[in-house]
Amino acid sequence: MKHKTAFRLGVRAIGVLVIAEALPRLVTAALTFLVRVPLDDRGNFGEVLLLFSYPVVAVGIGLYLLLRGDWVINLAFPSSGPYCSECAYRLTGLPAEGECPECGTTYQLEAEDQPTGDARE
Ligand SMILES: [Zn+2]
Repeated sequence: MKHKTAFRLGVRAIGVLVIAEALPRLVTAALTFLVRVPLDDRGNFGEVLLLFSYPVVAVGIGLYLLLRGDWVINLAFPSSGPYCSECAYRLTGLPAEGECPECGTTYQLEAEDQPTGDARE
């Protein structure tokens, strides 16, 4: 398995763990809101924020890591510029196409490739 693929799977697995940890808290918050918070206080924004802020943010982060995670993955393995798309080896000074000396993945550099660290996929 290539480095970037393994890293991507790791990011997805962390997303699953974050969701698995936060989803029961979200259900608990919803039940607490429905059962414990008196009808008069349900419009109280502070109460709602206190109950739901952590589980909603955590589930959102988990979903991002599970379904996309592009920013995190591209931070570790830049996919543009003169880098190997699999192991992020810097290909500066190598021929326009060939095999990565680090992992053996075939690469083809674009003429405009510059070491910018740009996060395009
Ligand atoms: Zn490589």
